[in-house]
Amino acid sequence: MMQLFIPLNFLGFVYREIRGALANIERMFDILAKQPQVLDHVDAIEASPTVGAIKFTDVSFHYDQRAILNSVSFDVPAGKKIAVVGDSGAGKSTIIKLLFRFYDVDRGSITIDGIDVRQLSQQALRRSIAVVPQDTVLFNDSIYENIRYGRSDATHDEIIAAIKLAHLSDFIESLPDKGNTKVGERGLKLSGGEKQRVAIARAVLKGAPILVFDEATSSLDSRSEQAILSALRDAAKGHTSLVVAHRLSTIIDADQIVVLSKGKIVEHGTHASLLAQQGLYARLWHIQHEQKDLANG
Ligand code: ATP
Repeated sequence: MMQLFIPLNFLGFVYREIRGALANIERMFDILAKQPQVLDHVDAIEASPTVGAIKFTDVSFHYDQRAILNSVSFDVPAGKKIAVVGDSGAGKSTIIKLLFRFYDVDRGSITIDGIDVRQLSQQALRRSIAVVPQDTVLFNDSIYENIRYGRSDATHDEIIAAIKLAHLSDFIESLPDKGNTKVGERGLKLSGGEKQRVAIARAVLKGAPILVFDEATSSLDSRSEQAILSALRDAAKGHTSLVVAHRLSTIIDADQIVVLSKGKIVEHGTHASLLAQQGLYARLWHIQHEQKDLANG
């Protein structure tokens, strides 16, 4: 029996190793697929911007001869929150990709603290921006380790502080192994809302001056949505934040909202001033509220 058990046990070990290696390869392809198609300038600036003021000036961009952004300009002073809203395909996520310099703009410029992103080394640029993506990649490791991924040399106290800001403390306390609980393959053991809050904690831990939040399109129940909202509000304190929002309730408190339609800014202002304008934003707001009322019966 023992003779059979040892090879079977070994086979199990080999299977787990291969599966782990495949998951790593998959991850590598995910990362490679997101590698930028731009190169550093020969004398690129290595110091990261620390203040985090963002300025888009007359930015135009196209994919495969298709115009995506057309003369987009906005200014986000350090520490303020800007939200970008608009129909699906309007170009909201493209704004984030350009800020991150996954691509270079065709026309115009994007600066952070007055420095054109093309003048910065990609490392310096990436250090200055923390992103909460639509789909967070979680590894089958503990919650602590998944958060530490934001900054590998973070201390335990810093991780705990990020957990508090992301409003995850109560959830973690309810788990059998607290923060040492494993999240499952790709975070399967967490709900969509919990995953996003792990991503917020991870982003906070990075300590970058700019926080970008690309809101997931998938709908969440209103409790999860409220939890994310509070997490985001606390996480954004002391950061310049740029939120791509699908649910307008997320961005009522933004200092500035820009409304994109077919790659152009058609309206901008605060939530109250945009409602008063009775334009596209007001229409989107009323549609979302009618849907909410219908869903609540
Ligand atoms: P959503 O709300 O649906 O996420 P969005 O406003 O964020 O939409 P973007 O992701 O910025 O829209 O895309 C703008 C347009 O650019 C879309 O029509 C999209 O199909 C197109 N697009 C996005 N990425 C690429 C790409 N890599 N190559 C070609 N076209 C692309």
